[in-house]
Amino acid sequence: MAEIEAVGELVKLQPGAALSQRITSAALQLAERVRGTRPAALSAESFLRHYGLSTREGVALMCVAEALLRIPDPETADALIREKLGGGDWDSGKESSFFSSAADWALLLTGTLARWHEAPDEGLAPHLKRLVARLGEPVARTAVRQAMRILAEQFVLAETIEAAVARTAARRPYRFSFDMLGEAARTGDDAARYLDAYANAINAVNAPDAVSIKLSALHPRFEEAKRARMFAELLPRLQALARMAAARGVGLTIDAEESERLELTLDLFDALSRDFHIGLAVQAYQKRALAVCDWLVALRRPLAVRLVKGAYWDGEIKRAQQLGMADYPLFTRKSATDLSYVACARRLLEAPEAVYPAFATHNCRTVATILELAGGRAFEFQKLMGMGDALHDALLAERGVACRVYAPVGSFTELLPYLVRRLLENGANTSFVHQIADPEVPLEILVADPVAALPDPYAPDPRIPLPRDLYGDRKNSLGLDLSRQDVLNVIAQRISSDREVPLAGINSTSPEALDAALARACVAFESWSRVPATERAAVLERAADALEARMLEIVSLIVREGGRSYADALSEVREAADFCRYYALQARRRFAEPLLLAGPAGERNQLSLHGRGVFACISPWNFPLAIFTGQVAAALAAGNTVIAKPAEQTPRTGLLAMQILHGAQVPRDAAQCVIGEGASLGARLVADARVCGVAFTGSDATAKRIHAALAARAGPIATLIAETGGVNAMLVDSSALPEQVVDDVIASAFQSAGQRCSAQRILFVDAACAPRLIGLLAGALAELKVGDPAEPDTDIGPVIDAAARAALLRHIAALRSSARLIGESPLAPGLQGNYVAPIAFEMPMDALPRQEVFGPVLHVCAYDRENLDDVLAWLRGTGYGLTLGIHSRIEGFVDRVVRAARVGNIYVNRSMIGAVVGVQPFGGEGLSGTGPKAGGPHYLLRFATERTLTVNTAAVGGVTELLNRPAD
Ligand code: NAD
Repeated sequence: MAEIEAVGELVKLQPGAALSQRITSAALQLAERVRGTRPAALSAESFLRHYGLSTREGVALMCVAEALLRIPDPETADALIREKLGGGDWDSGKESSFFSSAADWALLLTGTLARWHEAPDEGLAPHLKRLVARLGEPVARTAVRQAMRILAEQFVLAETIEAAVARTAARRPYRFSFDMLGEAARTGDDAARYLDAYANAINAVNAPDAVSIKLSALHPRFEEAKRARMFAELLPRLQALARMAAARGVGLTIDAEESERLELTLDLFDALSRDFHIGLAVQAYQKRALAVCDWLVALRRPLAVRLVKGAYWDGEIKRAQQLGMADYPLFTRKSATDLSYVACARRLLEAPEAVYPAFATHNCRTVATILELAGGRAFEFQKLMGMGDALHDALLAERGVACRVYAPVGSFTELLPYLVRRLLENGANTSFVHQIADPEVPLEILVADPVAALPDPYAPDPRIPLPRDLYGDRKNSLGLDLSRQDVLNVIAQRISSDREVPLAGINSTSPEALDAALARACVAFESWSRVPATERAAVLERAADALEARMLEIVSLIVREGGRSYADALSEVREAADFCRYYALQARRRFAEPLLLAGPAGERNQLSLHGRGVFACISPWNFPLAIFTGQVAAALAAGNTVIAKPAEQTPRTGLLAMQILHGAQVPRDAAQCVIGEGASLGARLVADARVCGVAFTGSDATAKRIHAALAARAGPIATLIAETGGVNAMLVDSSALPEQVVDDVIASAFQSAGQRCSAQRILFVDAACAPRLIGLLAGALAELKVGDPAEPDTDIGPVIDAAARAALLRHIAALRSSARLIGESPLAPGLQGNYVAPIAFEMPMDALPRQEVFGPVLHVCAYDRENLDDVLAWLRGTGYGLTLGIHSRIEGFVDRVVRAARVGNIYVNRSMIGAVVGVQPFGGEGLSGTGPKAGGPHYLLRFATERTLTVNTAAVGGVTELLNRPAD
């Protein structure tokens, strides 16, 4: 649903003017109470009062908080502290600065309050420096660590559930819902550990306290595509927990997670709530929130619902943009979320026979609204541990409503990422907790009716354009949401019906036909090169639209012909469309009008770009659509005509792409597809003197052959753009978050069965964190499904052909005897085809491969921090320079690696595959390619020839601009 319509519905459900007025005055009273209460020294409010997240210091503290406690080695911990806390304006002299009004925060450094009271005017940095100088880094490190723990204690009830339960007594009459801290499970072991922890918690707590569970903690593959597995494996776990909870009369609530997991969560909840009385969290920021509440009420079962605003807003927006989704799943404006919250609350309160609602909020206006709407019906409020104390204390004391604390339990190491998430969420400028802490924000504004804050007529936040409009100057390609069951079904059905007809045989192009095609291309060049660049651009934009319109058909073909998964095939289509639009834009910018150059009076000088002639475009099978289309689109945009040869393994995809280009009115002779073996037809093509340039992507060896063939030709020297392979590595230091690293390694090394030029071949990991990371990696490998790419739950399809498989199996066999096996994915017995199970080995640096191993094999090397330079030297020594990944929280480390690297595409703290056209222009250096980068601003220039035109304008009538200039 579009946001405008969704908000239209919500507005109808808001309180009327008189009620709103009452709510405002009640909210104002609450807000005055809250602002008048000095926040606890180490509460989130206090943090936010002293450090906006927009300040460097606030960010620095968060960085340290997020990473410090998990860093195993002192050197890296010191580096982090030095880097993040060594600079910054810790005491700006403002009234609310760090030490003058919140000396308690000094605990962050020393754990001894008194000492800092003595020197309230001094900043943290000088203190830190002095402390370091006097006591040495180890002591400073211990102090900061301890301070982080003290900070953590404000947000986590205890490290064990037993201790947490014991601590509740002092905090009655609050009720508690315990949350077991930690990242989502990556491995079966993780999930088993969480299951134990939840079971243990259910047994330890007593009603009315309750337990919250996260489905992503209970299964490492809690994803829509794994729906059947979730019902087979996750549901029984949930039933077991629900049974235990029921037996003890303890409430159990399923936490809300990212929107792509919503449907699956609801369906599991449906199955579970048939037999058990359980609870579900609903996020008001989702546009579907009201519909979810309606659905829950319509279940007509006794259940509990926790209404929250939602914690992943920024991540969801980013994801929707990256996936090219048609729209956002969330509201773009905070005020719309506030409306949604009220509308949902209304729905839940209206069904007291079925739903027991809990309203999780720290917002005075929201609280006042609920109090008005509830009208005596049963409900409770909820708050996060360490936040909103003043408000909820007042509610308990004066209103007699039940309040529950959502209380994390677990080790401090695991707390900190959670804490940072909470601080980010509440530190946002739009957040109530942030604004109530800021005395500059008038309370009247803070508690005003959110309806009044909406633009009239409603419009989504213009600073958050739809994913489609992300780039401003060209359309972003449209994606498909593969986290939706209906979308997966449509693709699966299409492939299965297409499969009823086997792929058609394709005839090779004969030498004579190639000759004739070249002749036609030469003739066509005369006209195509004269077509104005803007028209050539328009043709390519039509082709992009057609690619998107035929998405399903193309995805089906790529899956069948190339053995690619849905996600891979989909990103092929998107990339192809992006190439067309991006090169169209570049053609308009650079080719449409000549560039006027400065010069003497009486002379006009201009520089213009033109096509060179006939280009040969030779592409590999591993991106059968995107690279094929990208090369052809670039050559055409620059005014060349094209003979394109797809790889022998994927000719049909190339032919379909060509058909689409022709359908968009590329003249038939301006772009032609020829089919055949590289060694014969490909070699013949590049040896032909009519070919003025070659755009090649493929292996290093082939590129060298083409280079030699071009050099051997008589006539003009041809252009060669070659993009070749790489020996791509990721470097991980001990400040990195292991779970995030493993996610990115699994994607980078194994997606597309490792058959991406950008794929990760090597993981260099700091020895201090290697054991943990390697353990996670092994567990995550065990969770991958290798199989038929036509099945939506397949993670890894086959490698391209039997020869590729045989070579990979030989390599793996050799490693089995020479290296240490870390882990491998299971292969279903009886699976027929060119399957190679993803696998990882550990080995010393001198045993690492120096050649590209084109498949799902990861080589892991643990390095000592002191030897980082050797690692960097090794990388340069391969001679390749395509992609490089870095995972670290320490900028100094990142900078050092970046400075040393000679690599085309470097990715920090993310996966190292999936470059986006125009965003991460792609291509390597050294043995990895000649450049310029595909999908970058300089690519088209290599396809062009430049001409200058100089006209002596003085030849007729003198230097008119001098003679006719206005009088002084
Ligand atoms: P390949 O070199 O075997 O084939 C690439 C293309 O060249 C095919 O169309 C083939 O038919 C053709 N060809 C082969 N011999 C030829 C000759 N003598 N003259 C003219 N054409 C000839 O590569 P591949 O196995 O299809 O692709 C995998 C390789 O491509 C890997 O090394 C991978 O790293 C690389 N790759 C690089 C990029 C990049 O952007 N840098 C992108 C994708 C793939």
